[in-house]
Amino acid sequence: MNRRSFLQLSAFSVINLALMKLNTFGNIASQAAYSDVKMPALFIGHGSPMNAIENNDFTRTLTKLGQTLTKPKAILCVSAHWMTKGTYVNISPNPKMIYDMGGFPKELYEVQYPAKGSPEMAKQTQNMATKTTIFDDTQWGFDHGNWSVMKHLYPEADIPLFQMSIDYGKPMQYHYDLAKELSDLRNKGVLIIGSGNITHNLGRVDFSGLDAPVQDWAQEFDTKVKQYINDENHQALINYEGMGKTASLSVPEPSHYIPLLYTLGLQGKGEATSYIYEGFHYGTLSMRAVKIG
Ligand code: ZN
Repeated sequence: MNRRSFLQLSAFSVINLALMKLNTFGNIASQAAYSDVKMPALFIGHGSPMNAIENNDFTRTLTKLGQTLTKPKAILCVSAHWMTKGTYVNISPNPKMIYDMGGFPKELYEVQYPAKGSPEMAKQTQNMATKTTIFDDTQWGFDHGNWSVMKHLYPEADIPLFQMSIDYGKPMQYHYDLAKELSDLRNKGVLIIGSGNITHNLGRVDFSGLDAPVQDWAQEFDTKVKQYINDENHQALINYEGMGKTASLSVPEPSHYIPLLYTLGLQGKGEATSYIYEGFHYGTLSMRAVKIG
């Protein structure tokens, strides 16, 4: 892991304009089997892509989590690494691997995560959104914000998995409101995962090591965010820029923060929140993972 790798990561974004028609899918029998299972919603701080092939406290926590959750029918991942103009959902039956990072060891570019896609659930996702249009995509696949987490959470890759993009042109409220519209997916056995980081300032990463001393501004912002989550003060989190200097240092650009808003938008009133993981990597990256429900 070096500074250049991080900077290359931060520069990566893709505009996907592929538009395709999708046939109607429906499998009433399989939906009924899952109708009484409301899946939780997760936010995972994914940190460095190297977590995909490392064994540390964070990755072991993900593995344990995957073993304890009710097995989902499908997984929808909103990754910080798929930023687009417009909102897209990948409808491919077999999404491809995307190695959207530079300067890492060869081993990282050989990681495979051969889960199937879920065109059926992607279609249902599109249908649930009434205030906006979620476009079809067949060009994206699984980026490292997704597979670096899934490798540990569900190592068997036996659950259909699909991604939805983040429209970088929209205000924060849009993402939160869109998530609300998708909340019924949880009743259909879909595990929704926002994958980003609450604090993500690549220019200030301490490369001395995973356990580098935590910088004050990162600690302060992460603690404040936790407090607002506990208080269900989502409006303060949507308006995070009003949280001052620690916010501008922790969220210099919002790609990694926005997935948290998708997860929080899925929270029902009074629904329980818990923290699967708390801590920092490289002194600046909050690895906080949140579970709703
Ligand atoms: Zn990332």
